[in-house]
Amino acid sequence: MTVHRVYNFSSGPAMLPLPVLEEAQRDLIALPGVGMSVLEISHRSTVFESILAQTEADVRAVGRVPPNYRVLFLQGGASMQFSMVPMNLLGAGATADYIDCGSWAEKAIKEAKKVGTVNVAASTKSENYTRLPRQAELKLTEGAAYVHMTSNNTIEGTGYTTLPEVGAAPLVADTSSDMFSRPIDVSRFGLVYAGAQKNLGPSGITLVLVREDLLERSAAKKSTLPTMMNYAVMAENKSLYNTPPTFTIYVVGLVMKWILAQGGLDAVAAANERKAAKLYAELDRSVFYRGTAEKASRSLMNVTFRLPSEELEKAFIKAATAAGLDGLKGHRSVGGMRASIYNAFPEAGVDALVSFMRQFEAKQG
Ligand code: PMP
Repeated sequence: MTVHRVYNFSSGPAMLPLPVLEEAQRDLIALPGVGMSVLEISHRSTVFESILAQTEADVRAVGRVPPNYRVLFLQGGASMQFSMVPMNLLGAGATADYIDCGSWAEKAIKEAKKVGTVNVAASTKSENYTRLPRQAELKLTEGAAYVHMTSNNTIEGTGYTTLPEVGAAPLVADTSSDMFSRPIDVSRFGLVYAGAQKNLGPSGITLVLVREDLLERSAAKKSTLPTMMNYAVMAENKSLYNTPPTFTIYVVGLVMKWILAQGGLDAVAAANERKAAKLYAELDRSVFYRGTAEKASRSLMNVTFRLPSEELEKAFIKAATAAGLDGLKGHRSVGGMRASIYNAFPEAGVDALVSFMRQFEAKQG
């Protein structure tokens, strides 16, 4: 049976690689050699333990994760990390620095302020987050507990290509929308977190990579922090303190194998750069389409743009959807258009969008 699949530009949950869906479909009835669906196995079974161990090993291989980092699979989305990061890492009397570079960063700041003292090291909110703060604008705190950044701003379509220099403080990054879209030097971070539903798998899991020495801060809070919110407890229990989303972890494992089969993050990055370059070239070619992010801050994952009027934008989205180009509507808070082109989004879909844009402009422009 041939199933019709559209080009899905959703910002997340987003497209998964077709071979991953096919394998999951097969294992949905019975895992080979197990005779049970992947949805039916106990999280305490040896089958699941080996799925979890292999997924962790493949995450380590894909991200070249150094041995002194723990790999955690947690629940509650990246939004839960907005709370867990300060609850675990921000002690009384200390200050955490936050780079306010997008709507998700703003949410992270809001939660951190409930926990402790926050210094907003720089903000581009007054410019609608159309660019990233520059290094010279950062006002960092001496001896900060950590510095929090968002590596890719999913809503505004901006992303870091070089990491900010933050001195001795551990760098903590929300990498939800660009994790494993290109090589990552994990050793530059104290902690990295990412909701899975863009580049890593389905929703339901947040991948956390945490440097072991930072777990000491969590271990010291075992009697006060809710158990489910404690990184040290999750690390000691190898993400099996309670029942994890077993199916999501299994699919993340398949996605890791897919990334490795592509040639790893260098190969994935090359494809992502090609895809983004094609779309940005189209935005720069025409005055009809206007990219909303400052050129130097452009994201390779979420390409945001506007048309001359909101009326035209509505017509564009309607016609694009009819042409099999789905999910192009920008986030409700900013409007306009957003093409999310994560790892699994095919280059042919970008070509299809570019040719649709030309046709639409010729008709309307
Ligand atoms: N941070 C970023 C950068 C995101 O893009 C998102 C979701 N789109 C979130 C945090 C929130 O993630 P979740 O819905 O998994 O809590």
